[in-house]
Amino acid sequence: MRPNEIVEALRRAVAAAPDDVILRLHLAEQLLLAGDRTAATVEVATVIAADPGNERARALMTRALTADEPSPPAGRAPAPDPDAAVPIEPTDAGSTEFDWSAAEEQVGSGVADPLFGADSADAPAGGTAPAGSPADRFRIEPPDITLADVGGMQTVKDRLYAAFLAPMRNPELRARYAKSLRGGLLLYGPPGCGKTFIARALAGELGARFMSIGITDILDSFFGASERNMHEAFLVARREAPCVLFFDEVDALGARRSQTTNSFTRTAVNQLLIELDGIDGANEGVFVLAATNQPWDVDPAMRRPGRLDRTVLVLPPDERARAAIFDYHLRDRPLSGVDVPALARESEGLSGADIALVCESAAEVALLDGVRTGVVRDITQKDLRNGLRQAHPSTGPWLDAARNIVLFGDDDGTYAELRAYLKKAKRL
Ligand code: ATP
Repeated sequence: MRPNEIVEALRRAVAAAPDDVILRLHLAEQLLLAGDRTAATVEVATVIAADPGNERARALMTRALTADEPSPPAGRAPAPDPDAAVPIEPTDAGSTEFDWSAAEEQVGSGVADPLFGADSADAPAGGTAPAGSPADRFRIEPPDITLADVGGMQTVKDRLYAAFLAPMRNPELRARYAKSLRGGLLLYGPPGCGKTFIARALAGELGARFMSIGITDILDSFFGASERNMHEAFLVARREAPCVLFFDEVDALGARRSQTTNSFTRTAVNQLLIELDGIDGANEGVFVLAATNQPWDVDPAMRRPGRLDRTVLVLPPDERARAAIFDYHLRDRPLSGVDVPALARESEGLSGADIALVCESAAEVALLDGVRTGVVRDITQKDLRNGLRQAHPSTGPWLDAARNIVLFGDDDGTYAELRAYLKKAKRL
């Protein structure tokens, strides 16, 4: 059977059995071999939407998003196809698999890394080389939660859908509107309201890895080391693509360069800007998200187009969101007579993290009772109410600070969403 016929036969088979994941991935693989990366992406995205953790789908997505899809092996060259997006020439290569180790070796050796020279990944300046490869130093998590696990936050979910999910899942439309998969998003809002949580959920939704970087992972007072760390973070994220690269406390990392006295912080910011700009598609499949509690301290240069060019406010959860957060944190715990809607009503002002703590302390009390009395019991409404009484809403001080910024800071429209919220909450 000729390659085109194989693809057509597989298309028919998939149409007859749309839920057969193995068949669909087989079709995607054949499409990739035929050079039709767009059609392959559609098939893989369908699988990832249903099964974000599917490793084979993830690997295929990486190949589909990578410009240099390997040539097919000898004897399996596709017949010329006028519709194929990227025609593939037959070669003598014996394997259809991309040689990851050769590529990693090349990246690791710094060959493709003019910025830091050939020894870049192994010997940082200042002799502060951390042990192991760059990948060992950054925590990379496989997808574990999706947006369905995130309580409430509908506006934020809609923004993430428009910025990342819709373009990723509709490659044909993406091509038509020349929409790239690069560019990032800055999440801001009070502490504990789910910025990290939703970034992790986005990774799950995209079937992407989640790589979270805090400032301490990057900053190093030795000359040249901060830029190197930043560069390595991006190297690893690109290698792990599709990957959500999440920078926490980005205000500290990206404080206005003019205010920054530490040269190593300033150079880290500059390096971040260079990496965000990327070179020709280098960041394709790397979804950069950053979070801050103090967006007003973030270097405006970081918000230019192609960088962290969209700003999304993550607000304290409303009543519906609080109910969803209680549900999430109580879902695997034994309960008796728990009235979640009542708890949601009584927890005004609490953040997601505060609610997680209320559930945790109620579980602790029930557990200790069991230990003390020898009788195992469920968590009750009383336990949770006691937890609520002890909780201190942590969003208030942030909202007060935000009010001052909105009232007395420069108003270039950046905080319009925040202003509207404060007005509605009668804080302005
Ligand atoms: P910080 O600014 O302090 O880093 P954050 O905004 O990143 O905080 P998270 O770390 O994402 O907040 O949230 C803390 C915890 O609160 C999460 O691990 C999760 O357990 C819970 N949480 C927050 N928001 C939600 C939500 N919408 N649904 C379910 N759980 C949530």
